[in-house]
Amino acid sequence: MSTPILYELRCRECGKTWGNVPRSFCEDCFSPLEVAYDYDSLKKIARRENLARRDFNMWRYSELLPLPEGFTGPNAVGGTPLVASRKLASRWGLKNLYFKNDAVCFPSLSFKDRVVATALSAARRFNFTTVGCSSTGNLANAVAAQAAQQEMSLMMRNRDLLKKDIQRAREIRSHIPAIQKDCDSFEQSLFPESTAYSAISAELDSLAGKSGLHLDSRAFKPKLVKGHDLTELDIDAQVTGDYRGVVRFLNSLQRSSNYYAVEGLTARSQARSQSRKGGLQVTVHIKTYYRAA
Ligand SMILES: [Zn+2]
Repeated sequence: MSTPILYELRCRECGKTWGNVPRSFCEDCFSPLEVAYDYDSLKKIARRENLARRDFNMWRYSELLPLPEGFTGPNAVGGTPLVASRKLASRWGLKNLYFKNDAVCFPSLSFKDRVVATALSAARRFNFTTVGCSSTGNLANAVAAQAAQQEMSLMMRNRDLLKKDIQRAREIRSHIPAIQKDCDSFEQSLFPESTAYSAISAELDSLAGKSGLHLDSRAFKPKLVKGHDLTELDIDAQVTGDYRGVVRFLNSLQRSSNYYAVEGLTARSQARSQSRKGGLQVTVHIKTYYRAA
């Protein structure tokens, strides 16, 4: 009997499902992914009576968490007490009001311990050996504390990784002639200087049109690449249209057979951008190259 898929990632905007993979956004429309549960299958597995028999911490809900096979929680994350608030309850006219005291959550005394415990167990499931985060404080504490608990396996795996890096470097060295050939054919695939501007303009026009956008303007800033017969071209393309059109436009640039790197976006303020018919006005900063001959 095959195990049912109890949960998977689903795009909040377009609804595409991505399975259980380490991915943070939808590659079709750049929207955030959320966990979608199959509640009918879960109902058969996650039973109240089973949960009640387990220790009172976050791991008792293991059926709902992305845990590796045979995983046991490294410490008692969660299960923090509810504290009754009588004064505030009576002021607000409530019979019962409780605060969840996550200041006693383990191991770093922050509610961030819950999300980090979940993320790190998922990371182990996907065989990640290094974890990190951007943080204003609590999250970094939680990541550091929980990663430290797995230090031994991290060190051993890092040694294996180093071996792999050396092997990879050797492979790259043996492939240098082929890489040089790839570089040459990449350069040859670029537009020649004589037609670059008109060809790029035409393609931007066409891609914007197919995406349902209007290309208002494009500004080119060329810069010679030292030591190569190449010119780097920064393009600011200003487009007007709706959100989905902008996403389609970005996708089509990435999928073009010509090389376009989207470096960033600048959107005008909502009030100003809505003053024009058609919605958003966005400047897309693009980088490409053309060759001298
Ligand atoms: Zn999507």
